[in-house]
Amino acid sequence: TILVTGATGNLGRLVIASLLERGTDPQSIVAGARDVTKAEGLGVRVARLDYTDPSSITAALDGVDSVLLISGSEVGQRVAQHEAVIDAAKQAGVTKFVYTSAPKATTSDLVLAPEHKATEELIQASGLPSVILRNNWYTENYAADLARAAETGVLAAGVGDGRVASASRRDFADAAAVVLLEDGHIGEVYELGGDVAWNYADLAAAIAEISGRDVTYQPLTADEQRAGLLAAGLDEGTAGFVVALDAGIGSGALADTDGTLARLIGRPTTPLVDGLRSIA
Ligand code: NDP
Repeated sequence: TILVTGATGNLGRLVIASLLERGTDPQSIVAGARDVTKAEGLGVRVARLDYTDPSSITAALDGVDSVLLISGSEVGQRVAQHEAVIDAAKQAGVTKFVYTSAPKATTSDLVLAPEHKATEELIQASGLPSVILRNNWYTENYAADLARAAETGVLAAGVGDGRVASASRRDFADAAAVVLLEDGHIGEVYELGGDVAWNYADLAAAIAEISGRDVTYQPLTADEQRAGLLAAGLDEGTAGFVVALDAGIGSGALADTDGTLARLIGRPTTPLVDGLRSIA
């Protein structure tokens, strides 16, 4: 039996769908959800699982062999939340523990990396038989940029000529399903990204193709970007986070791709323009 945490989120729903498409018995899949009403309609078993309630995690693990821990969405709280799942999985004797991490989590200077690094270290220290999926960016992260640039004709960002090997959530979900279902992945740390590492001029061109209007990429300095975000009403902390994130992308934190994702899923990853079109 496979337990998927965060099953009510965007990625979790797609993982469940992918497991079912691959012929998994719905009774052998448990959707872990902190709000079980949100899991109705997934077509699999449901267990309440809140990262902040260890007893719910232990109960959800009853009869489970394989776990997909989808990293949480409460930034700043995640190490303790993930640790609760790791501890409970260890206690339950889980034989495959899969975690969605971030590119080069242990060495990256991306602002989001430290929580993933800490989680990977906890997993290693636990001795759980594990597989780490270091997912690059979802193409779907660009929904707001797509809408704004389609409206204004300008894509402004602080990433310079940084490249992003994004793929669609569907691609990452398929990889998670494959790793959960196939033997032979234990001990692997997979760097997963799209087949193409594109830059923001490419992103502007893709948005232009979809929207049918000219879109230009306007590179911003960190100061320009921060001033623009503050003027748009963001608080200092959030603006600083976005600026730091773009600086990380500018220095290449998301630029690497080696075809591992396509190999795992047995098909090319979803091209940027197709991924964007699905959320336009
Ligand atoms: P979502 O925000 O759609 O899903 C997050 C899931 O985590 C939801 O099911 C949410 O439950 C669940 N969750 C959050 N807090 C808790 C908690 N305390 N206890 C139990 N469950 C909890 O994100 P996505 O599916 O789009 O992405 C999955 C993860 O990937 C994110 O959580 C984040 O760590 C990471 N991410 C990666 C990105 C990338 O580009 N690679 C971009 C953005 C995020 P509920 O439905 O009740 O809210």
